[in-house]
Parts: sequence; structure tokens; C-alpha cells
Amino acid sequence: MAKKKPVSLEGAVKTDAGLNYKGVIMETIVEKCEGCDRVVPFEDASYCTTYAQPALKWTKGKCNFATHTREAEKGTKVKVNPLKASKRAARGR
Ligand code: SF4
Repeated sequence: MAKKKPVSLEGAVKTDAGLNYKGVIMETIVEKCEGCDRVVPFEDASYCTTYAQPALKWTKGKCNFATHTREAEKGTKVKVNPLKASKRAARGR
């Protein structure tokens, strides 16, 4: 696995619109982001290092950058080899 880069929001400035980090306005994370590896705390709030508007990311279903939902899926998904599956079906098993 690739080494994780340490992510920090150093130099970010809080503004009325949100957290200004290198010219990008970042909004705080939403409840569904809890547990995601991309969440970085800054002062009294938490922000997403990948997506500036986490709430928007969740409006159309799951956030595709989320690390916590991917891990949960891994445990439930079972890879099926279609060739073997069809042979199994042909044998009546
Ligand atoms: S990657 Fe997605 S789930 Fe994770 S903190 Fe960002 S918006 Fe939230």
C-alpha cells in the first residue's frame, strides 16, 4: 500500500464563508464523513482534505472518496468468477 501523505491544513484562514485554504473555501464535514480517513481537524471543526464541500458530495448517494464506506463494502462483497459460476450452474450445484 502507498505511504500516506501527512495532510494538514496549515496556513488555512477562517472566514465567514468557511475555511480558506490556499484560496479554496472549505466547508465542515457532515455526519456521514465521520470515520473517513480524509477528515482533518482544524481548530474546533473538521474538514475534508479531498472535497471542499462534503455535504454536497453526499447529496447524490455515497461519497466516492470515502475511505470508511469502501472498507465496509470490502467485507460484504464476494468476488464471483463468471466462468466458474456458469460451470457450477451447468453441473446443477
Ligand atoms: S472524502 Fe467524502 S466522506 Fe470523506 S471526508 Fe471527504 S466528503 Fe466526507
